[in-house]
Amino acid sequence: MSSDQRPAGPAKPGFTTRQVHAGVVPDPLTGAILTPIYQTTTYVQESVDRYLAKGYSYSRSANPTVRALEQKLTDLEGGSDCICFGTGMAAINGLFLAFLSAGDHAIVSDVVYGGTYRLSTKIYSRFGVEFSFVDTSDADSVRKAIRSNTKLILTETPANPTLKLTDLAAVSALARAHGIPHAVDNTFLTPYYQRPLELGADMVVHSTTKYFDGHNATVGGAIVVSNEAQGSAVRFIMNATGMIMSPQVAWLTLQGCKTLSVRMDRQAANAMAIARFLATHPKVAQVSYPGLENFPQHELAKRQASGFGAMIWFEVKGGVAAGKALMDRIKLWTLAENLGSVESLITHPVTMTHADVEAAERQRVGITDGLVRLSVGLEDADDLIDALRNALGD
Ligand SMILES: *Cc1c(COP(=O)(O)O)cnc(C)c1O
Repeated sequence: MSSDQRPAGPAKPGFTTRQVHAGVVPDPLTGAILTPIYQTTTYVQESVDRYLAKGYSYSRSANPTVRALEQKLTDLEGGSDCICFGTGMAAINGLFLAFLSAGDHAIVSDVVYGGTYRLSTKIYSRFGVEFSFVDTSDADSVRKAIRSNTKLILTETPANPTLKLTDLAAVSALARAHGIPHAVDNTFLTPYYQRPLELGADMVVHSTTKYFDGHNATVGGAIVVSNEAQGSAVRFIMNATGMIMSPQVAWLTLQGCKTLSVRMDRQAANAMAIARFLATHPKVAQVSYPGLENFPQHELAKRQASGFGAMIWFEVKGGVAAGKALMDRIKLWTLAENLGSVESLITHPVTMTHADVEAAERQRVGITDGLVRLSVGLEDADDLIDALRNALGD
């Protein structure tokens, strides 16, 4: 991190300053304030064994626009390096390829993004990698699941879609004691609210598609690592498999990052107001938001994160039919997959994001058929609440 390399000077700038400036320098050729989109396949070499500038050789291996985003994310998570990928799933695939081989075992949170579950059960199982889906909210369950061939622990907190939390310090301490790398999918809270590396985790995975982009414009992913060995293992996979992020996606994501904290604070404030509204509505059977005092892990939420995020789930009385009717009727909220954008989105996980998780497994981990997931956006809270009130009916 450049700010840490300065011999003396002011204390490390605050998060919001760094989200604007980290990784970005004015273009040396023109002075352009924004990092250009370096749309090039290759880079001219000075001689057979020397590149003209900065070590770039071919845009599958590295690209300056993507590199600027990698440096920004490294700084924001407090890691040693970051490797960007074409999507969040490509990042998770890169993590698995870097740390798991045939005969190995991995522990994954039992509530995870549907795509992570699908990748583990439908693809890696074909190559002799075994997965245990464990309730990582209970460190003792994680301890009991560790085997002699366990090579990776991947947790997601808050988990998609039930919002169950994992105690990151507890699981990281356990992982460290057994010499197993612990990677955390930090997509829901971002480093603005939660920094897993500071709590002892080894790596952080992101779908940059969500809050970093924030504008429904791209799909992208990243892995932030905490040491050089992890960094070269992950970068080797990125280059060897070609699961790269494009310079256009990196450029758009760089711009999104600059307003991350401002968007998230407003979206989280909206979410709190909406959760409180839903909690008192007679047609709502249950509402879950880590910021509510009755959230089962409210204390842990306050301890390990500096904000509660902008994801909510609730159940309408009347089950699936009532939930479906609400989603068909609702105005302003958009029925769509994705989350974290300025537009408020409403999702039915069972038929949308988690359709690939078997019914029995969904029931076991609490993804009920009537669960409605909200990604709260940047609109006026009053308008979002009015739309929900109208769709619920009084
Ligand atoms: C969306 C998401 C992913 C996958 O990211 P893509 O960019 O859609 O491939 C992984 N983890 C979580 C928690 C997500 O929400």
